[in-house]
Amino acid sequence: LDKADLVIVGAGFYGATIAERAANEHGLKVVIVERRGHIGGNAYSETDPDTGIEVHRYGPHIFHTPNDAVWSYLNRFTSFTDYTHRPFSVFRGQAYSLPINLATICQFFRRQLSPDEARALIAGQAAEMAGREPDNLEEKAISLIGRPLYEAFIRGYTKKQWQTDPRDLPASIISRLPVRYTFDNRYFSDPHQGMPLSGYTAIFDRMLDHENIHVLLDCDWFELRDSIPRAVPTVYTGPIDAYFGFSEGRLGWRTCDFSRSVVATGDYQGTAMMNYADEETAHTRIVEYRHFHPERDYPVDRSVIVHEYARSAGAGDEPYYPIDTLADKALYLRYRALADREPNVHFGGRLGTYRYLDMHQAIGAALKEWERLRTSEFAHGRKAP
Ligand code: FAD
Repeated sequence: LDKADLVIVGAGFYGATIAERAANEHGLKVVIVERRGHIGGNAYSETDPDTGIEVHRYGPHIFHTPNDAVWSYLNRFTSFTDYTHRPFSVFRGQAYSLPINLATICQFFRRQLSPDEARALIAGQAAEMAGREPDNLEEKAISLIGRPLYEAFIRGYTKKQWQTDPRDLPASIISRLPVRYTFDNRYFSDPHQGMPLSGYTAIFDRMLDHENIHVLLDCDWFELRDSIPRAVPTVYTGPIDAYFGFSEGRLGWRTCDFSRSVVATGDYQGTAMMNYADEETAHTRIVEYRHFHPERDYPVDRSVIVHEYARSAGAGDEPYYPIDTLADKALYLRYRALADREPNVHFGGRLGTYRYLDMHQAIGAALKEWERLRTSEFAHGRKAP
């Protein structure tokens, strides 16, 4: 560690991108300290031992981006399949296409509607909120998509996700609800999307395959921090509140419980992701991993499915989605002010900046931060470019 030019806390996409750039572009000696027993952060994937099917341990990850620079950067380490995400949602025993599109609307209202007719129908239903400022999430959703679609697809699902009645949630949680007045049922409309051909973990293996990059697994940085010379710059991608010993309080997160099982069929649900909108069904969705890679030769008599359950995160849980209430925002700003005064430490990634980031955003932010670092203190410090 004392020979390192740069220490990176966390081997997720943010940390791995900075490490790769620092070693390949700048010849820096990089040490990555990772608390878990593997690289990849939350994008880590592994092979299920019973079926050989690739499973994403921390929830399903679908790569998509509008950003050409991020797409071409990542294509140095992997090629992508043409997987296009088309999830479904079950409401009262019926499966509907998501996000809400013309097929969903026609099926739900049991008639064929043109785009203009569907638009007029939904506008009419949303008009119950006309002239009133929405007071809570329920009213906001009704003002956007009308009551019938809200009650079917948003109310129960939101209640399960937040464990709170949508009438008690702030309207600010949603600014828009995507409704497509075409039969396009792709979940993401980004020009670049797909699944990494050899899986997510293989991307990290390639990014970190450099003689100057040393990864310490099963290693909590807090246990090492006092032994690292203070002159060595640190990129910290762990939780920002943990860095400061929760001195200002704990930031709120939601987490997920994943229950994995192997089922005795080659196809359990016919698609990768089935949401459950009913309040009475405890899980929020079932993911069947084989469908992310239809090109692979997976067994025809077994499949891996994962039930997901959402809840708010306690102290020992994995933080997944920032709750981001007004109190959280204020708390984060206090930590941000402390972080700005911390010499030689750069806070990044989803945990370090208390923001939900898609993978492409984490990589894009890391590439940008690397440009800044490269041209700032590194230029004057231990190693000039
Ligand atoms: P992380 O991947 O979380 O990496 C941070 C790393 O820091 C972790 O490995 C952690 O163990 C380590 N760490 C923390 N503290 C310490 C410490 N004290 N010492 C050592 N190591 C430490 N994005 C998409 O683009 N598409 C999707 O479909 C998608 N699906 C998602 C589904 C779920 C359920 C979740 C939660 C996220 C999803 N994401 C998706 C987002 C994606 O996971 C993030 O963009 C990505 O993880 C961000 O990378 P990161 O490096 O910022 O953080």
